[in-house]
Amino acid sequence: MEHVIDLEHQAARIAEGADLCVQCGLCLSVCPTYALTGEEIQSPRGRVMLYRAAAVGELMDDQTVLKAAYDCLDCQACQTICPSGVKPGELALETRAALQGGQTHSPPLRAMLEAFKHPWAMDLVNAALLGYQRSGLQGWVRGSGLLRGLASHYGGRWADLQTMESLLPQRPIAPAMRLRRPRWTPHRGAYRGTVAFFLGCVMNAVFSEASAASCELLARNGYDVVLLPETSCCGAPHIEEGDDRGYRQLAAKTARLYGDLAVDAIVTDCAACGAELKKLGRYFADDPELATPLARVSALARGISEFLRWAGIRETGATGPGRPTTYQDACHLCHAQGICKQPRELLQDNPQVAYVELEGADACCGSAGIYNLSHRETSQELLKGKVERVRRSGAEVLAAENPGCLLQLEAGCREAGLAVEVRHTSLILLDAYLEGEAPGGA
Ligand code: SF4
Ligand code: SF4
Repeated sequence: MEHVIDLEHQAARIAEGADLCVQCGLCLSVCPTYALTGEEIQSPRGRVMLYRAAAVGELMDDQTVLKAAYDCLDCQACQTICPSGVKPGELALETRAALQGGQTHSPPLRAMLEAFKHPWAMDLVNAALLGYQRSGLQGWVRGSGLLRGLASHYGGRWADLQTMESLLPQRPIAPAMRLRRPRWTPHRGAYRGTVAFFLGCVMNAVFSEASAASCELLARNGYDVVLLPETSCCGAPHIEEGDDRGYRQLAAKTARLYGDLAVDAIVTDCAACGAELKKLGRYFADDPELATPLARVSALARGISEFLRWAGIRETGATGPGRPTTYQDACHLCHAQGICKQPRELLQDNPQVAYVELEGADACCGSAGIYNLSHRETSQELLKGKVERVRRSGAEVLAAENPGCLLQLEAGCREAGLAVEVRHTSLILLDAYLEGEAPGGA
């Protein structure tokens, strides 16, 4: 069997990262799992000490350490506040990979992660979702309450299925982006450059209308847009589940496709993809084959709002009136990439938006990869708090830039009977352009 991780090297990396911790405890104030439990082992500081103990061989109970690593949301709020540069979220992922030997041992998870490697699999997911919605089956399942009843009676797999079903959007989803979008979208107006659009897996399967809007925004702002339909997953689900092998395979494909592509930027509208693309160069810095192309990929990677704000967007021509709109920071946008003000500024400058700030906007909504399935109760507690704060904000629209957050927030608002439209920021901005050019528009 191919060994892609060097356990000694990885253990040294974990110990080195953990050694930066001076145990000041500042991170405890922002950690969602510590806030819920008050337990040190559920805090960044406590976790980091455990990872270190395992890495230097002081603690041989792998299961305790693995549980601590999986209880972490990898929301990275602790990384934003830590004055010593400790990265407890990233250390959690490295610890998962190291203790699992670079692969997950759960058969269903392995199957899921394998599917993420193949672009066509996400098209199949999209086709299945379209069939589920258009056949009326989704309406029947939700209306009959059958699944909910089975879940509450039998729990186990039925509860997992019910949670997964409840996360699916109610609004009609669009056909997969990969199948309907050209490889090349020409710029409009004066030419400003050429960018690649990195198509995310879940964005393609569930939020393709948002990604189509992102490409449209880039073109309207003077950029030629290159879309490579053979793009695979960025690897985020793999590294989240400790599948270092799968992560490396996908990184190698990203390096091959994008490593020497002649573009000015690689733009993504998925927070998780953006965080991964920016991390790849650092993660594979010692890899003789991947270091150079991935350093370039990381240097070129940009989030859609980050890029549009940097480029300076063209007038939309919209006039309003603005709808009360608020914004949820995706952890992997705000904490992992430091992109917090750009999406807000785009919203605040939009005449169709009356912006209201969301209390605790940068706190995790509980989605966190598959945390909402693996840690259902904790995830639901975090979501309930978030939805309550959305209610208090008085917003009619809730914007976000990550598919996991969009799914989680939409389900949470629906469950709470809150009539809030959950939308990707690209759709909100494109609407402003469409209104601006409509007959009678400004
Ligand atoms: S991780 Fe950072 S903030 Fe938390 S205790 Fe250690 S040094 Fe302090
Ligand atoms: S990443 Fe989030 S959940 Fe994990 S230790 Fe840091 S603040 Fe807590």
